[in-house]
Amino acid sequence: MNVAVLGAGPAGLLAACGLSQAGYSVTVFEEHPRVGFPEHCTGIVRHDFFEAAGHPELEKLVLAGYTGGYVKAGEGGVHRFSAGVTKAVMMDRPGYEAALYEAASSSGVGFELKSRASVVPVKGGYGVAWPGSRRVFDLVVGARGPAANTSLRTIPGLQARVELDSRLEPDSVYVLFSRGIPGYFGWIAPYDAGAWAKVGLASYAGGLTGRLRTLFKAFGVSGRVKGYFGGRVVVGGAPVEVKRLNYVALGDEAGQVKPMTGGGLGLGMMGAKTLVSDLRRGDLTLADYRRWHRRLRGSLRLTEAMFRLILSTPCSIKDRMLEVASGSPATQMVLRESDFDDHSGVLWNLVREGAASLLSA
Ligand SMILES: Cc1cc2nc3c(=O)[nH]c(=O)nc-3n(C[C@H](O)[C@H](O)[C@H](O)COP(=O)(O)OP(=O)(O)OC[C@H]3O[C@@H](n4cnc5c(N)ncnc54)[C@H](O)[C@@H]3O)c2cc1C
Repeated sequence: MNVAVLGAGPAGLLAACGLSQAGYSVTVFEEHPRVGFPEHCTGIVRHDFFEAAGHPELEKLVLAGYTGGYVKAGEGGVHRFSAGVTKAVMMDRPGYEAALYEAASSSGVGFELKSRASVVPVKGGYGVAWPGSRRVFDLVVGARGPAANTSLRTIPGLQARVELDSRLEPDSVYVLFSRGIPGYFGWIAPYDAGAWAKVGLASYAGGLTGRLRTLFKAFGVSGRVKGYFGGRVVVGGAPVEVKRLNYVALGDEAGQVKPMTGGGLGLGMMGAKTLVSDLRRGDLTLADYRRWHRRLRGSLRLTEAMFRLILSTPCSIKDRMLEVASGSPATQMVLRESDFDDHSGVLWNLVREGAASLLSA
């Protein structure tokens, strides 16, 4: 059976590897000449990401581990949160894609690089067209990232790679909510033992490079910017259905992204695994994958609503909420026990524990 995967990002590559190992004949189309570039992501994922992805040997790509962080809202104080254990890691994202590319190539996946491909209607389903060619496939997996799906809500994100003047705590991420970053937030993610950081933000407002200054100032950080990179951050709009005839969407293209952070590596990985598992069993209806996606969509919509509420709360109130939450022992317990990729679960548990401690006070 012939499968086309459109997009050699992490979700498409992981699916291609798994499908090829399951005996499918796979061709991957990628518009760029080099897999993994241009870079656009911070690369923060759950601590057990590589094991969960089925590639524990890639643990060596971990650049930093985080147990918690500091959060600041407007002119308020800096509030510390800690799970007490490593909950997240920063990976070498281009290194991850390079490793998956190598694994896919050696398991027989064919690559059409520098080939911008489109999904085209053919008799009874969809095929693929790319410059100078057109072909029918049994299954077409769309893993082209957020730009391929116009129903998604996205905002621009920008990051700077910064060599810091003085080291930051290497196991903490720094987060800023500010009027200077409307519609989202900014982050500083240290790596290389706190000597370097990815300093980023997303916002619907323009002038993102200038807005990075707000972030440096808020945490008293300085350093030399060694380059900028960025892309569209998905903040909502995942479709209900991901499969139409022989076409199926995966990863960011399917909106499998946490709206509260724009993080899609973990959900794209889970999606690719579920899709491969269906096809390994020969289930071309992709029943488990579609069910998983629909359940996920419900939880993403809930997170999106809760996050919008948080964003629309004035910074002074956010500061007070952060103060209360950071001082509560229940918060550490929730952060330690919660699933890193289940934001609606984390928020719900924080609200529940907060209410319980207020009632018992
Ligand atoms: C600033 C920023 C920071 C982020 N930080 C994090 C983070 O810390 N943690 C996290 O989990 N997520 C993060 N993300 C999100 C993460 O980058 C995405 O969720 C992830 O890349 C999605 O993987 P994907 O394979 O679905 O799509 P993509 O990585 O977007 O890959 C799609 C691929 O398809 C190719 N393509 C597109 N159209 C075509 C076409 N027509 N033909 C052929 N090829 C095509 C593209 O060139 C690309 O290589 C961040 C995003 C941004 C913008």
